[in-house]
Amino acid sequence: MKKIQMVDLRSQYDSIKADVNAGIQEVLDTTTYIKGGKVNDFQAHLEAYLGVKHVIPVGNGTDALQIALMALDLKPGDEVITPTFTFIATAEVVALLGLTPVLVDVDFDTFNINIEAVEKAITPKTKAIVPVHLFGQNANMEALLALAAKHQLHVIEDACQSIGARYIFADGRSVMSGCMGEIGCTSFFPSKNLGCYGDGGAIFTNNDVLAKKMRAIANHGMEVRYHHDMIGVNSRLDSIQAAVLDVKLPHLDAYTKARQTAAHYYNEAFAGCAHLITPVVAANTTHVFHQYTLKLVGVDREKVRQYLADNDIPAMIYYPVPLHLQKAYQDARYKAGDFPVAEQLSACVLSLPMHTELDTEQLRYIADHVLAAVKVSKI
Ligand SMILES: *Cc1c(COP(=O)(O)O)cnc(C)c1O
Repeated sequence: MKKIQMVDLRSQYDSIKADVNAGIQEVLDTTTYIKGGKVNDFQAHLEAYLGVKHVIPVGNGTDALQIALMALDLKPGDEVITPTFTFIATAEVVALLGLTPVLVDVDFDTFNINIEAVEKAITPKTKAIVPVHLFGQNANMEALLALAAKHQLHVIEDACQSIGARYIFADGRSVMSGCMGEIGCTSFFPSKNLGCYGDGGAIFTNNDVLAKKMRAIANHGMEVRYHHDMIGVNSRLDSIQAAVLDVKLPHLDAYTKARQTAAHYYNEAFAGCAHLITPVVAANTTHVFHQYTLKLVGVDREKVRQYLADNDIPAMIYYPVPLHLQKAYQDARYKAGDFPVAEQLSACVLSLPMHTELDTEQLRYIADHVLAAVKVSKI
């Protein structure tokens, strides 16, 4: 059996090696390392795939979120609502820009932002909401967009884990993750569903004015060379990464299917086990399983993890500490107990190996050992 990894980038590379190598070689031969052909090609192909008017390639997903916020002309002290159960980058950029992150709790079933909690957190200072489509399924965007419209708030989707997921609105429209709000952000970090071989990210929008502005911000606030109309940053997707991504994009739907097949295998295997809650997929979204995250009930999680580790199966805790309990984000407004669902999730989640190259032998081995681990770890 192949070695089990959380993410197996090597096997995936082996399956597309000739195309990737040729793409990279082309960049080396043409020496257009920054901007130029490959970046433009990939941008156009991703715009077509997503059905969105503008894709703005940037240096990474964190920069994408920062540039999106910079484009909204917010003032220090303006409030931005984000979930407390997410990767740190979502709130980090809010804090870095001198804005005030306002944290809210999430839904136990989907791990995604709780709409009633968002509504309660809105104040006259609230300017934007940043929902995160965590682990690969979309947040409840129908309700969130309605709420944002009612209060005239900006919506920036953190789609770093959900590229390729679809959301179906009540009127039947099927829209790609990251393309529902005003602005969407994604990451091409190697382990993401569409990953490059270094850092990369992109911003999505259908708004021409915002697109132009964000493109300028990502390039030192400059539209005409050496004329700087606004304060910007230097954040670019380089051509070698774009070459890799342009080879991988046509495979993305097949990669998603492979993840969904693996998730289905796990779901079936764990269906009869009262100690394991398998991922819940909400009715109006597809799930692209960036992570396959179990909730453990009545078992010692550390014991389960150790048992798996002893059998060469990695498993990870995403995320062990919600943002309101992180040292760097300590704030008089928040204390332990304020967001009970996020705190409960942090204590019970366990993510299993999930990638595009898992075979049945590996899946069977993992599932059997998870069930065995549960048996010896009951409390
Ligand atoms: C990965 C990720 C980011 C940041 O992306 P980078 O490319 O690593 O900067 C932001 N938000 C979420 C939810 C992520 O998973």
